Amino acid sequence: MFSYNGIADYHTQLSRKQTNCSEAVNHYLERIRAHSHLNAFVDVYANEALEKARALDASREAGAPMKKMHGVVIALKDVIAYEGHKLTAASNMLHGYVSSYTATALDYLIREDAIIIGNCNCDEFAMGSSNENSFYGPVLNAIDNERVPGGSSGGSAVAVQAGLCMLALGSDTGGSVRQPADFCGIIGLKPSYGRISRYGLIAYASSFDQIGIFGRHIPDIALALEIMSGPDGYDSTRMQAAAFDAASLYTQSNEHFKIAYLNDVMDHPSLDKEISQAIKNTCANLASEGHTVEGTGFPLIDYIVPAYYVLTTAEASSNLSRYDGIRYGHQTKEPVRDLTDFYRMNRSEGFGREVKRRIMLGNFVLSSGYYDAYFQKAQQVRRLLLDQITLIFNQFDLIVLPTSPETAFRFGAGSKDPISLYLADIFTVLANLTGNPAISIPLYTHSNGMPFGLQVMAKPGDELTLLKFSNQLLQKGSPT
Ligand code: GLN
Repeated sequence: MFSYNGIADYHTQLSRKQTNCSEAVNHYLERIRAHSHLNAFVDVYANEALEKARALDASREAGAPMKKMHGVVIALKDVIAYEGHKLTAASNMLHGYVSSYTATALDYLIREDAIIIGNCNCDEFAMGSSNENSFYGPVLNAIDNERVPGGSSGGSAVAVQAGLCMLALGSDTGGSVRQPADFCGIIGLKPSYGRISRYGLIAYASSFDQIGIFGRHIPDIALALEIMSGPDGYDSTRMQAAAFDAASLYTQSNEHFKIAYLNDVMDHPSLDKEISQAIKNTCANLASEGHTVEGTGFPLIDYIVPAYYVLTTAEASSNLSRYDGIRYGHQTKEPVRDLTDFYRMNRSEGFGREVKRRIMLGNFVLSSGYYDAYFQKAQQVRRLLLDQITLIFNQFDLIVLPTSPETAFRFGAGSKDPISLYLADIFTVLANLTGNPAISIPLYTHSNGMPFGLQVMAKPGDELTLLKFSNQLLQKGSPT
């Protein structure tokens, strides 16, 4: 029976001939079939993945060395371009669209011999927090099928949660990797803005978007980050900081850090009391282990969500204007009067409700007469948030906070009232507004039986401290 315990262990098993890549791929294909009711995958590349596995097995037999991602079975979110494969952003607008090129980050993984097993369901155009906004229907949380897996990268999260792949890629514009990781009890990393090239990632809000990684083992996530964060001439926003080096994760494993928690977050009325208490307990434990742990204020807290939704909908309305149904995308079958009517029909039929809501909101905040009051103002708030976070990071290495105010909720609970769903993004969107790397680490179980995580933020470019600290916490085991 194949069992997965991290890339290093898998590679050891491969070199000792205790398993092979074909066995691994067959194991996952079998599990994907057995868990099809979860609706995590949009497309499974069964034959292709098996072919690649056989080729890798043959190359090892012939004595070739293993590359860094040799045989690692990875699932993609349906917003990451892979040449010759369907790419739809879970939208009717792109139904049947096949990508003509491969995203740079994915290309880096493939060059290191990763095996791509399929692409995963998500909220349409990555807009949502529950995976209920997908053209393909909702994804079910594997722990409790009546609850959402979180969103927007819900399919990718469940693919890791239910053991349908080794690692999965998502995208995180406002929490879409961390929040589903929190709801599913796995690790979700959003790297610093610009760490990984966005070339080939379907744009939602370009100054926020970042490819993120789901997994169960910090060393796996560190390695995938190292590989994907290579240079790219196609993305001018990719950061020029020194490349991330996964090997440095293992130096000085018992370092002590300066850790802040935010009083305004811990006492926020939206935060579940049990979640708040669990994080306070963790802070107390960290302090007793010799870390410096202090509370600090964050008075701008209630401006975070409005700033995020004004700015991201503005960017989305611009990014999504390309979907006119002319060169690609949904085309109406109805009779139309003229070109404008043709665009209108294509977009009205192609986009779902939430996407339309955001396009309208984005156009509103950008329209003349409202630009200064909304868009401009939100940009100024973004600057203030960045200043405040920078001040905190002048004194601390890390900030710990909840990932989400509550655990995975039941289907339908959030979809009736979009505003309540937006407000629940309060703790994750901050890192996207400011560009910091952030991670959700699965540390806790709620009395309602659902898992939840601790979110940790670090300085821009300092994924190393973030992952070192996460590794320390996970090695200690679950506190509750
Ligand atoms: N829930 C957030 C939103 O709907 C986050 C989405 C994301 O990170 N892609 O905007």
